[in-house]
This record gives sequence, structure tokens and C-alpha cells, in this order.
Amino acid sequence: MIEIINDTGKYEYEIHSLTKAFYPEEEIKVLCGSGQGDDEAALVYVFWDGTRREISVQMTDRDELKRTLYLRLCDMTGKTLPWGTLTGIRPVRLAARRLNAGKDRAEAIDSMKKDYYVNDDKAELAVDIALRERQILSRLEKDSCSLYINIPFCPTTCLYCSFTSNRVGKDRGAVKDYLLALYREMEAVAPLLKSRTIDTVYIGGGTPTTLEPSELEELFCRIMACFDLCKLKEFTVEAGRPDTVTREKLRVMKKFGVSRISVNPQTMNEDTLKLIGRRHTAPDVVSAFRQAREEGFDNINMDLILGLPGETVKDAEYTFSKVLELDPDNLTVHSLAVKRASALRTLIDEKGYPPYEDTAEMMEKAIQRCRESGLFPYYLYRQKNMLGNLENTGFAKEGKFGIYNILINEEVCDIVALGAGAVSKRVDEDGTCSRSANFKMLDQYIANADEMGLRKEKLFRSKWFT
Ligand code: SF4
Repeated sequence: MIEIINDTGKYEYEIHSLTKAFYPEEEIKVLCGSGQGDDEAALVYVFWDGTRREISVQMTDRDELKRTLYLRLCDMTGKTLPWGTLTGIRPVRLAARRLNAGKDRAEAIDSMKKDYYVNDDKAELAVDIALRERQILSRLEKDSCSLYINIPFCPTTCLYCSFTSNRVGKDRGAVKDYLLALYREMEAVAPLLKSRTIDTVYIGGGTPTTLEPSELEELFCRIMACFDLCKLKEFTVEAGRPDTVTREKLRVMKKFGVSRISVNPQTMNEDTLKLIGRRHTAPDVVSAFRQAREEGFDNINMDLILGLPGETVKDAEYTFSKVLELDPDNLTVHSLAVKRASALRTLIDEKGYPPYEDTAEMMEKAIQRCRESGLFPYYLYRQKNMLGNLENTGFAKEGKFGIYNILINEEVCDIVALGAGAVSKRVDEDGTCSRSANFKMLDQYIANADEMGLRKEKLFRSKWFT
């Protein structure tokens, strides 16, 4: 535990998150000091062993405070952070802002380095992604929207899972009740979307391919009946767990125009797969991927997680080799995020897995392997509690970029989200993003599906019908 006595009188969140990035395994408490918020103020760090260290920070504004605090923390720990002072989840936005203000690539990179102490690689990554996103988004119609549908069921719960996902057992009654409720919500929302252009549909979860082929077929029929998809540019279904993928399901998806799927290994190391509770093997991944190719899917994403418990850089390299042998069109590389409430947190606390100092090296190698394989970075986001304060990055071959991934991360277009736990987003001209969330728990959602439809009407009506 580290207690920080904060004499700045403000910036509690910034002080907490930046310190946490340097001391990821420590609990950090920021306590109010007696200062009045002058331009220069003191922070007293009281460490777990009782030692105290007083540092002074400039606080003319938030960025200046973070810069001076960052330099002091570098001195104290002997570490630097790849993303410098940035602790927020969307560094690409900051790069995009610089480009939109007229800076060229080199100037935007310089500015990211100077303003946030981001290292060379990350500054280039953020700016290049911002440039690519701009190009991809320019192909979308103005005022179009996206549709997200959540299927919150999985075969088992992964160790690191932080979603509300329900295990599908033999009793499929819950799935059937859920789908009926989802159809009620779709019907309630359909009139609202009548005159809208839908660019992308994304069916996520959970694992949508836990649905039986007949259930998938009915879901697609209902979507087609409720919404006009004639201008659709991308139709994604997450088939994340390879053990849920069958030829029959792939054929149903193909028949209804699904253009992009995800088959997610996370790792190709058998011991880790067992440890994280995925219930599938590495050969299952290969088999699901090959079947999807044989059924004509030419845009397949694979998700990987770096820093899984017990994995070394060598293990990660083995996974890259096995996955890249399959020649996926998209590769999404995540850094493990250890959520406080996850089973993984408990396991780490009990077994004392070492902190994953190697994750940064794994990420560097992943970026290099993707480059060599003709996969370009096109979206990036960060989460709280990510190992090494790193990032999640989506890579894709030219022409295979996942549009929805950019839209959801950068909040640049309206998203109508259906199903339990789904969050709709309305984005106004000035960039303001307003949200409306559905009930997360299955029983609450099922009992209130029609009302979830009305919530969306409330969110979008004043934008779409005035
Ligand atoms: S597949 Fe995804 S949603 Fe399902 S349990 Fe694993 S992490 Fe959670």
C-alpha cells in the first residue's frame, strides 16, 4: 500500500492513476493534505515500509502536473512508461486532435512525445492509427449508424472474464427466453431505425456461436425483418470460442451475409488454455479456423492475450508463430487486464504469479511480427489495470479493417445496442457522447425488454426526428 498526502488540493484521480501505472501491484490511496492549490505543491509518498518521500509538483494545469509527477516517479522507480503520462483509454484521439488541428505526421508525433512523454514507438503507433482511422471513416455515410446485438452466453467462464456472461449448460431454457426478449426489443426499436442507414452490424457477447444453428438462423431472419441492411458495409459475428464453431453454424452465417468473424485462441499453449478455463485446445482453434476458410470466410479475426499467468516471451512467440501460420486477416493483440473482481485476481493473489515485466517485450515482438506479416495497426484502446500500462491493438490486412471496432472505440457515430448489458451511444455534432444502458442481468432484461426499446427512443429521438 502507498498512501499519498496530496497538498495540491485537487487532481486526485490523475495522481492516483499515474502512481498506479508505476506501482501496478500496490494499493494506492490519495489523502487530502492541507495545501490550497498553489502553482507548486507537495505530495508526500508514504510507502508500505513506513519510508516517506516528499516531492514537489508543478500544477499550473493538469498536463503540467502529470508531466512533473511523471518525472519524479521515473526518478523514484528507475522506470519509464511507454505511454508516458497518458493513463486514459484513448490515446489515438489525442493524436487525431493534433492531425485535425493541421499538424502533419511528424509534427503530431513530436507533439505527443513532448506533451505526454510518450516513447517514439507509441507516438508513431498512435499517429499512424489516427491517420488510418481517418481514411477508413471517410468512406462512411454522414449520419449513418451501427447496430450491436449482445448474446451473453459462453460455454464456460474464462479466468480473466469481466463481462456478465452466462454459462450455457444442458438447460437451454434461459437462451430461449433471452432470444424471445431480444426479438421484442428489436421490434420496439425497428420503427426508430426505419430511415437510418446502417453501416455495420456486430453480434458480440459472450459467444454468439453458443446458439444452435436453428437459433442463429431465426436471429438472422428477425434482424432482416426488422432492419434495412441494404447499405451494410460490414456484418461481424464473434465466434470467439473455437469449440462452439461448427460447419452448420458457419453455413448459416454465410447464408445471411456475415462478412467477418472472430475465432479467438488467446494463446496456443495448452497448459495456459487449461489454466484460463477455455475448455478448447490449440488444434480446436486450427480446425475452426480452417473450416471457416473452407466455408468462404475471407475476413477472420483472431484475438490474443499477452501476459497470461505463467507465460514467457518464448510462449508468446510460439503463439504468434502458430497463429500467423493460419494467415488471419485481422489479429487483435490484448495486454492482460487483471480486473479486481475476476477469478484471475484471486489466483494471482493466492499463487503469487510474478508480475509480468515481460509483457512490454511480448507487445514489441507482436507488433514486429504483425508488420512482417502485412498486418497494419488500425485501432487501439487501453483499459484500467492493464499489465505494463500497455494497450490493445487491432491489426489487419489492407482492406480488411474492422470498421465497427473503430466506431465503438473512437465514439464517432451512433450505435444502437440491443440485448442484456448492451450500451447504446448517441454522438452529437460537437462530439458529445450520451449513453443508454440496458439491464445487465438476464432476468431483469427479459422482464423489461420492451422498456429497453423505449430507452433508445428517448436517447435518439431528439437527434433523428427534429
Ligand atoms: S469468451 Fe469472453 S465473454 Fe465468454 S467467458 Fe471468456 S472472456 Fe468472458
